[in-house]
Amino acid sequence: MKRLKLLLFLLPFGFTTLCAQENKEIESDTLENNREAMGGGESEAIDTLDTKDKFTKIVIFEDFTWSYIQLEKPDIDEESLTENWDSERIHAYQDVEIAALPDVTDLVLIDSLHAFCIPIKGKVYSKYGYRHKHPHRGVDIPLNIGDSVLATFDGMVRIAESSSKTGGYGNLIILRHPNGLETYYGHLSKILVQEGELVTAGELIGYGGNTGRSTGPHLHYETRYMGKAFDPERVIDFDNANLRSDTLTLKKDYLNINSRYSSSSKNSNTASAQSYTYHKIRSGDTLGAIAQKYHTTIDKICKLNRISRNTTLQIGRKLKVRVHY
Ligand SMILES: [Zn+2]
Repeated sequence: MKRLKLLLFLLPFGFTTLCAQENKEIESDTLENNREAMGGGESEAIDTLDTKDKFTKIVIFEDFTWSYIQLEKPDIDEESLTENWDSERIHAYQDVEIAALPDVTDLVLIDSLHAFCIPIKGKVYSKYGYRHKHPHRGVDIPLNIGDSVLATFDGMVRIAESSSKTGGYGNLIILRHPNGLETYYGHLSKILVQEGELVTAGELIGYGGNTGRSTGPHLHYETRYMGKAFDPERVIDFDNANLRSDTLTLKKDYLNINSRYSSSSKNSNTASAQSYTYHKIRSGDTLGAIAQKYHTTIDKICKLNRISRNTTLQIGRKLKVRVHY
């Protein structure tokens, strides 16, 4: 009985919405609270141990019995995540041409189940774009060797490779995220994850370093969609350690080394209300009726909102029905 109670108490901290360091505090706090809550019983939890699977822990009780607890895994559709999976080559989707991509793609970055965490705090000291006639396809953030580098979003490790195989990147981690985005973490001193491993936003994945083609300790950080790099500053406001918006409206034009984020492009970078006509779903609405009302098609509405024809229409939800470029 007591063990069941403990399990229920422990589950919430597996449901990660914060950065890793903060989580550890929650974990020990939760255990402390549990001991108090269970006050003086003969089977208090006295320790937790790691297992081979990081989502499974062992809880040791005071009477030396033990039991497993399961932490919640990131809510990821692994099948769609691993389309075009390539663990051999650094850059995936090499046969996808930019010309074949849609002009605009909405990428949902965070929602109630998926969080964001800044990979490392610091200001960008070398921007995306041409640098002494050489393309720089990411941003550089200064750090000290050994600083924690955290996963930006939930995802799966596609590449975890040492310097000898990555050329200039040094020790490199590439994470694939459920929305198709990939994030790159270069010049690491140490890699703490393996190919195929699920990671949660904010999870410690490696330590900062100076490996590869690097002239001082820093994180080389890239964001790519369908293998094509774009300026990470379109996604992350590094000055304030925050996301620029919950949804990134990624224009095909951004997938270009000359397309750098600047504050003047701020408004066109976010999914602003002016770009769409919305319809608030009322009781009795059907996709067919909504499409007819706004002189569009069901397929177009599904695509705009990344839903299928069978998605249940939740009353009160706002659907994008028309887009204005
Ligand atoms: Zn760099």
